[in-house]
Amino acid sequence: MKALKTFALLLLLSSASFALDMPDSWQTDSLDRRRAIPNDSAPPERTEPLHGLLPFSGDEGVIRRVKLSDDVKAVALTFDMCELDTNTTGCDMDVINFLREQRIPATLFMGGKWMRTHSRRVKQIMTDDIFELANHNWSHGNCALLSPEGLKAQILWTQSEYELLREETGLEGLPETMTLFRLPYGRNSQRALKIIAELGLRVIQWDVAAEAGDNSNPKRAKRSAKLVASMTKPGSILLFHANSVPKGTVNLLREVVNILSDDDYVFVKVSDLLNMGEPETVRDGYFSRPKDNYALDKKFGIDGTGRRKPFTGK
Ligand SMILES: [Zn+2]
Repeated sequence: MKALKTFALLLLLSSASFALDMPDSWQTDSLDRRRAIPNDSAPPERTEPLHGLLPFSGDEGVIRRVKLSDDVKAVALTFDMCELDTNTTGCDMDVINFLREQRIPATLFMGGKWMRTHSRRVKQIMTDDIFELANHNWSHGNCALLSPEGLKAQILWTQSEYELLREETGLEGLPETMTLFRLPYGRNSQRALKIIAELGLRVIQWDVAAEAGDNSNPKRAKRSAKLVASMTKPGSILLFHANSVPKGTVNLLREVVNILSDDDYVFVKVSDLLNMGEPETVRDGYFSRPKDNYALDKKFGIDGTGRRKPFTGK
């Protein structure tokens, strides 16, 4: 009888993990560490997404913030989760868990390859609707340097990977596809903006780049947070990372959230922020000042993916 019970329990456990293939715990583990998961640069199982979007017919500029009416104090916290073709990063569960504990909505810009590498976490994250998932290219391709074919593949492979993982969760009610896009390195070209708009995605950058250096030291994080808060205005979009590349992000995030909450700010997803006011656009992506990111063109392989040969999607 005992054996039968154990067998039934095992069956239950294995079917539960088969259905969702994700960890029971949200607590960080060894697989979340940077480079813990072996690299795999193969294309996604399906390279064409099943769900297309209508071409975006408005101004195809780069959105940095949203102009809100005077009495609204909302901002969007955004987190990039990305890696190159040539390596893997991690998943910062301290950040994810802080947002969950505080019930703070956030928009996560994920690389498609990163989504596959960290699929157990992505499927878990999909179960909590405070999170909005968005497209951040397949393997961090630089949109100013990719060929039109390469750019389309970087975007569409990511849309496909989202669909594949969404299907695997078996969850009802998840969005069919992602509608927001973030430029890796903040780099673009006018040709790239046209292609992204044709694919129906809207380009979301930030007006406040939050992380500047290592925030592992809580005192330093406190100082950085004051600076970040001073740059934040109603309608701001803040850039953080949750791929365990910048250090101590959760310390900084905690302090920023404290200061902004005390100042009566509310936190919303980017898609909600867009519906609350008038997006303010520029033609070119950047960190703090136009062209401050051009030097990154030479740093990460031939086209931002870390590769020596151009990424073409072939
Ligand atoms: Zn990135």
